[in-house]
Amino acid sequence: MSKTLAIVVPAHNEAEVIDVFHARLAAVLVGVAADATVVYVDDGSTDATWQHLASLAEKDRRVTALRLSRNFGKEAALTAGLDHVDADAVIVIDADLQDPPELIPDMLAKAEEGYDVVYGSRSSRAGETVAKRATSAAFYRVMNRLANVPVPRDTGDFRLMSRRAVEAVRELRERQRFMKGIFAWIGYRQVALLYDRDPRKAGETKWNYWRLTNLAVEGITSFSTAPLRMASWVGACSALVAFAYGLWIFVKASIWGDPVHGYPTLMVVILFLGGVQLLALGVIGEYIGRTYMEAKRRPLYFVEARLGGGSDVAPASRASLDRQRDAKKPVPGE
Ligand code: UDP
Ligand code: MG
Repeated sequence: MSKTLAIVVPAHNEAEVIDVFHARLAAVLVGVAADATVVYVDDGSTDATWQHLASLAEKDRRVTALRLSRNFGKEAALTAGLDHVDADAVIVIDADLQDPPELIPDMLAKAEEGYDVVYGSRSSRAGETVAKRATSAAFYRVMNRLANVPVPRDTGDFRLMSRRAVEAVRELRERQRFMKGIFAWIGYRQVALLYDRDPRKAGETKWNYWRLTNLAVEGITSFSTAPLRMASWVGACSALVAFAYGLWIFVKASIWGDPVHGYPTLMVVILFLGGVQLLALGVIGEYIGRTYMEAKRRPLYFVEARLGGGSDVAPASRASLDRQRDAKKPVPGE
């Protein structure tokens, strides 16, 4: 049985390049997997992208075109695409030709070596301002410090994933989808494939500084409750200082008295209440952090390999996960 290949392409207002993209992709596919399927996800485009995709789907029977009801953002478009493929290897690639389709054979070759994930990694960042590079570097430093999963730098969504890696990604149904983090979080054997990222062929990037900042915040908050924890510590420390100072004012006033009447009592009460409040906020923060992590309902682990005990036994993690999900499914007619 030969391995099947599927390509997932999110597209938002890419009418200008989509045909060129498909031609280049098709040319590559001829050489590697003539029967590969291509899933285009039109992420609520307002231009003629959907018309182009419709005609592609009509002309090329390998093409599936999917149209989201509105613009949900690249993360959601990607997830929709991954939900609609069924192949042994899935490649995610941008429609704007910044990720060269010609790299696909190399990715497949790497996958043959036994890697579950082969991610494209930019070997140069030509055409980017110094400021952009600096902020990007700072982001990855903070991210990798705070989050427990190391997110590789200079990596976009261009990647190949094995069937089980795709299934793993599908298990993460969280709403705030920081894909770079999700891809890294699933684990398995991952390897980088260096390439030169081309400038956009047409159209314009949807990433301005504002969106990038939001993405950075999303990345950090999606994979870490460290900021909450930080607030807890600041709260606990200020509470401690407040208590100590309150005690000092109390002792001082008791021994030597205080020229200002009412000041010591007032200060002690304010410091005490302030300290108690900060501590309580810290405690609430800890619980919110836990609730937040639980709310994601991420799987606890994925089993990569298993030896002995009969290989026809279903992997325990999957089975229990399916049970969990079935239990959550509403009963029809309810
Ligand atoms: N994209 C999408 N939905 C969006 C924004 C972008 O599906 O809301 C697609 C877009 O069509 C392209 C890919 O995601 O195929 C990458 O987008 P873009 O080129 O704007 O990002 P960049 O290459 O600058 O990271
Ligand atoms: Mg792009």
